[in-house]
Amino acid sequence: MCVTVRFLVVLDADSTLIRNEVIELIADEAGRGAEVAAATEAAMRGETDFATSLRSRVEALAGVPTASFERVLARIEPTPGVADLIAAVYERGGIVGVVSGGFHEILDELAPRLGVDVWRANRLAAREGILTGAVEGAIVDAQAKADQLAAWAAEHGVAAHRTIAIGDGANDLRMIEAAGLGIAFNAKPAVRAAAPLVTSRVDLSQLIPLLP
Ligand SMILES: [Mg+2]
Repeated sequence: MCVTVRFLVVLDADSTLIRNEVIELIADEAGRGAEVAAATEAAMRGETDFATSLRSRVEALAGVPTASFERVLARIEPTPGVADLIAAVYERGGIVGVVSGGFHEILDELAPRLGVDVWRANRLAAREGILTGAVEGAIVDAQAKADQLAAWAAEHGVAAHRTIAIGDGANDLRMIEAAGLGIAFNAKPAVRAAAPLVTSRVDLSQLIPLLP
């Protein structure tokens, strides 16, 4: 059987799919939440190189037990309207991907709960249940996000003009520019300035009328 995928919607995770920045929640477990929040904010505004910033922020997570991810997950707040948006994508024959500069360790629990089909993020190195403070493998940065959107589209036979990218941070700009429709969602100034479409209300269901 051949199922036709009509379109692809790719969302960023932190501050888009969910209200939180997960790295800040994990940093709270190390007592370094405020410091990591400030560095994350600068990276999302595009003031620092994403990969360099991520590596230094992940260093602040060294020593956090992976068992504390339960507590992190419990603090995560899905963005209002996310369930309605995802349901509407399926009704119209599309699929939903999430590509994140955050972490598989959290997204692997969260994405299936929200009904996301495919997702990709960074991985945190751990030894005997304790974070080492390193990122494993290549970093999912702005270019990797755009490349992943193109790869999912190719894999599911979706033409580039039938892709939608939604994000808030500077590391979302390349996928926003590469997508058929790029949406800055409650985004940082640099993203709002460059994105074809800008929305400030924190409610993902308002994007439903834009679906093909
Ligand atoms: Mg974000």
